[in-house]
Amino acid sequence: MALLYYWHPDNYRRDLDMGAGFHLNQSNPLLHSLELGDSLWAFTRNKSKRYVLVAELVIKAKTQNPHNFRYGSYRVWGDLKKSRYFLADDDAPRVEQIIRSLSIRTEAKKLGQSFQGHAAVRAISEADHQVLVAAAQALPLEPRARILPEERLEAAVLLGDEEAVRQLLVEEPSGVAEARAAYLFSQAPTRNRQLVKELQKTYDGKCQLCGWNPMDEYGHWLCHGHHIHWLSRGGDDDLRNLLLVCPNHHGAIHACDAHLDYKDFTFNFGTRVEKVELNLHL
Ligand SMILES: [Zn+2]
Ligand SMILES: [Zn+2]
Repeated sequence: MALLYYWHPDNYRRDLDMGAGFHLNQSNPLLHSLELGDSLWAFTRNKSKRYVLVAELVIKAKTQNPHNFRYGSYRVWGDLKKSRYFLADDDAPRVEQIIRSLSIRTEAKKLGQSFQGHAAVRAISEADHQVLVAAAQALPLEPRARILPEERLEAAVLLGDEEAVRQLLVEEPSGVAEARAAYLFSQAPTRNRQLVKELQKTYDGKCQLCGWNPMDEYGHWLCHGHHIHWLSRGGDDDLRNLLLVCPNHHGAIHACDAHLDYKDFTFNFGTRVEKVELNLHL
């Protein structure tokens, strides 16, 4: 089964400016009826007010958000290798007729009005899905939807290495807007180092997943701060978005693109599920 989503133009643009997120939050539980490997299609109105297709997320994970999360309880994550953002410029083909021809009800005069509130995400049939696959076939990709290497960005930010962050943004022209880029290499390093210090104190330097205690064993704080919602994908540097983990767990989380599920505080690594055993701050 597949879903079709109307992405409000402001939110769509914000997503690209912050670092393409490749995920979607909703308050509608229908979002979690997607199975892994299913598609979530998104359309929006571009600058010339035309409805255009902007993304196909191929679902890799479904998680629940923290309690009272402002964008809803349900989240799905796109597989970074299989998901695509399409270019939404003036030349992008209009999809209004195509969407109105699908089996879902879209009688509002302005198409977007048929996708308000809970109806922002709609279940579509397999035949509808195939229509969208065909419509998307020749669409050029959005060059801004590129992800900075999270390990390097996070390490540079946490080490307070402004030059390394600057270098990364030059070497890897990702889509992040200038304001976000400027923030990442000016305020973020100081702020993040402070937050990780707080975590080190809260957990006596232990890994929140396995309890490894480098201070006891080696006399040094060797665990890392990890951004649960990656910085490169628009994540905040807020204490509730950080976790203290050992270097092994940190490497595994990035390599497996494992996401924290706030429902039971577990990480799904694909091959195994592990719980955040020590949790005093989330
Ligand atoms: Zn660990
Ligand atoms: Zn990390």
